[in-house]
Amino acid sequence: MAGEADTPKDRATPIAAKALRAMKQPQPQAQAAPPDSSTNVTWTPPPGTQVEGAGPPHLADANAGAFNLPDPTAPPGAPTQAVNMPTANPIMHDPLARPYDLPSGGVFYGKYGYHKTVTMVPTRGEQENVIAGAGEDPQSQLAVLRGVMQQCVDLGPIPYDELVLYDWTALVINWLAYCNGTDIIGIRPQHGKCRPITVTFSMSELPCKVLRFAQAGEVANWPPAVPGEEVDDIEAIIMEMEREEGAKGVEEFLLTRDDSEGRFVTGPLPLTGERVTWRLPVVADMVTADDFASRIGSTDTSKGKPLHTFLLALQILAIDGRPVGRLEAMRWASRAATPTLDGFREHTSRRSWGYDTRPSFRCHCGAQFRVRLPLDGAMFRRRPSGS
Ligand SMILES: [Zn+2]
Repeated sequence: MAGEADTPKDRATPIAAKALRAMKQPQPQAQAAPPDSSTNVTWTPPPGTQVEGAGPPHLADANAGAFNLPDPTAPPGAPTQAVNMPTANPIMHDPLARPYDLPSGGVFYGKYGYHKTVTMVPTRGEQENVIAGAGEDPQSQLAVLRGVMQQCVDLGPIPYDELVLYDWTALVINWLAYCNGTDIIGIRPQHGKCRPITVTFSMSELPCKVLRFAQAGEVANWPPAVPGEEVDDIEAIIMEMEREEGAKGVEEFLLTRDDSEGRFVTGPLPLTGERVTWRLPVVADMVTADDFASRIGSTDTSKGKPLHTFLLALQILAIDGRPVGRLEAMRWASRAATPTLDGFREHTSRRSWGYDTRPSFRCHCGAQFRVRLPLDGAMFRRRPSGS
């Protein structure tokens, strides 16, 4: 965010300080989205790497039909056909197959035996071509990315559409790192109209929240703080130091079995006192949002834009215990006052996990600003040499 507080601890450890602020500040959900309108992000290769040109578009077009993109008209939660179709290259038997544990620890996939370990293989040449040939707009890149990932990542019993977006985001980061042969990335974020800065960092060093069930004798601590609870500066510094001592910024939170239903109710929201029942965002919502975005002709997810409101509305199940449909949820989200909406957004963001995908950087002008990492096909076009 442009012009965030400029404090010594920010200067020393921007990412850790940002993690702390993330706990205190409302944040948009972690779905991959276009960069904030105030920032401009361009992926650049790490030092000493070569940039490959995009693949031939005609080749990509020819291959595009081979990918089973999710059906945007399918209702949320309905498995796409692609999930159940046998794949030409069974991932489990691929010599390059590598396991990955979802940061949710599988706690929200009770229907599927709390499955948490997925299997990934890197992209092959023809898939690279498809990715390279994706259009420039973020929505079509996301659609292609989802399609290719379905070929390269085996979720076991979890239907692709039911994967919670926070898990999906973490999976994308780790899978892209595997495909690229490194998790060091370079970006050139821009603060407002200032000159862009150049930064390289390791994706795995982004702060990451992981979840598991509390065992006997352990106290559940998720979400991590009570709404409105203030942390003073000294406590903040101590918490930050503890976080830095942790394994690469990984924080573990403990859940109760009740938490794992994936449905939550807010406290009384500001101004109206309404209590909103909501569910976690899943991959199917992203597909539905893509369809909505293409119909309204805008992929802008900033606050107040129709797509932002739509994404919020998709999560809303009931208001004061009364079930609402999508249209009514949309009306509620469109008409609610900003403090009420902020209260809702804060509540939902506190129930997020996985990587913090909006790291904070310092501009030449001295301001600290956040950059939403663009998790899309563009990341594939920057590959380290020799990999
Ligand atoms: Zn600046």
